[in-house]
Amino acid sequence: MSNNNHSSYGLIKVGVILKMALLTAFLIVLYFPQNDIEDYSDLFYTRSSSDAESGDENKPEIDVPGYENAYLIKVNETIVYLKDSDQVKKMFQDTIDKYDDKGNFQASILRNSSRELTALTVSVNQVCDNTSDQLDDCIVTAGLEKAIDVPSSEIQPEGELSFDSFELGVKDVHFNEPVEIVQAYVKSDNIMDIKDAASLITENQETQQIYKVQSGDTLSEISISTGVPLEDIIDMNDALENEGSTIFVDQELLITVPKPELSVVWTEQTRVEEAYDLPIEYIYNDEWYTNQKVTHVQPSAGYHEAIASVTRINEDMVSNDTLYEEIKMQPVAKVVEIGTIVPPTYIKPLAGGRLTSGFGKRKAPKAGASTYHKGVDWATPVGTSVYASSGGVVAFAGWGRGYGNVVYINHPDGKQTRYGHLSRINVSVGQSVKQGEVIAASGNTGVSTGPHLHFEILVGGTQVNPFDYLY
Ligand SMILES: [Zn+2]
Repeated sequence: MSNNNHSSYGLIKVGVILKMALLTAFLIVLYFPQNDIEDYSDLFYTRSSSDAESGDENKPEIDVPGYENAYLIKVNETIVYLKDSDQVKKMFQDTIDKYDDKGNFQASILRNSSRELTALTVSVNQVCDNTSDQLDDCIVTAGLEKAIDVPSSEIQPEGELSFDSFELGVKDVHFNEPVEIVQAYVKSDNIMDIKDAASLITENQETQQIYKVQSGDTLSEISISTGVPLEDIIDMNDALENEGSTIFVDQELLITVPKPELSVVWTEQTRVEEAYDLPIEYIYNDEWYTNQKVTHVQPSAGYHEAIASVTRINEDMVSNDTLYEEIKMQPVAKVVEIGTIVPPTYIKPLAGGRLTSGFGKRKAPKAGASTYHKGVDWATPVGTSVYASSGGVVAFAGWGRGYGNVVYINHPDGKQTRYGHLSRINVSVGQSVKQGEVIAASGNTGVSTGPHLHFEILVGGTQVNPFDYLY
């Protein structure tokens, strides 16, 4: 009788445990006495009154064959399972030990306060060294429960700084990505060897990323800057046939970059003796265009002995600050004056149209027409709207020799545009026009072989190829 009661009670418990494991993968922790958890191996086990009676507090009393308790570790979308808490701690400790060769930093498992559901995470703290002044952020491991809290400003050495004022070595270590740890009741097959788990989480994986083409990029430069071989970039992108394929600004290219799921951010103070450059000093000129610049002072490198604070994500340097230096040779910064006004752009002065004559030498299409074509022609029906290619002031509007009805517009960057063979003119001299504004209708006036728009751009009074400027 008593035996029967016991087994039906057990079945209910199996159901409860499976439901929680399958639906949420989280089991509820009843009580956390403090944020730092030293012994967390039994935190996930839900105690019931029968456990208290049995006296066996840590061991679940039922086992589903093929399933066992494990720790789930999730970084980004990657999940691994480790058998016990020691392995979890060891995996994270091994990861930071790669960068902290002195063993000054310790990985510890904490309650994850950013989660509503009870979950754990990993944090890195400095182990207190009794001979060190740097007591902030460190954990005294000799049984004390609280880190000694000394603001860093109070422990700076007083008076003149020297090289001796700085303690060299690794000063900070932390993980760059959030880590979630929960206990789960999982199929034993899913539980990994610590080496396999560490390799999935902390070693480089081929990660697909999108590279957005910047102005001036070439495929070979993209290959060098991303570290992805050129043939791999061509293979991955259907739009690319070979290394000569054209790419355009804002085009999105698929690339794979080697990147670990979990990376370590670490800061090291080192003493260096090196040549160094100062950053460029810019003088901003509000009357110049952004493509105008003049170098006033050429740079020269300096030479110093310094204490540098270098922060890296794994092996890649992300910042390098000089904390203290003794300069042996004074550097000179490059001084550049640069404009702030965005230069006007030029757009095609009509919608549609068929390009019938480009800029430059041609056979005279008609008696009286030039053999050197000073603009471009688009064949288009009479009456097509003609737009101002860029904003400016109308300089001429009327009949011009050869041009027929023509409009000239002067632009603020010194350029002039001309629109010829018009059937109708909508603007008058001195009028300001905006880019894209309708200024006229196309036609077939003047020396013209058929309805078309003749368009010119002049720089310093001389016609240039409009296609060098059209946007
Ligand atoms: Zn023409």
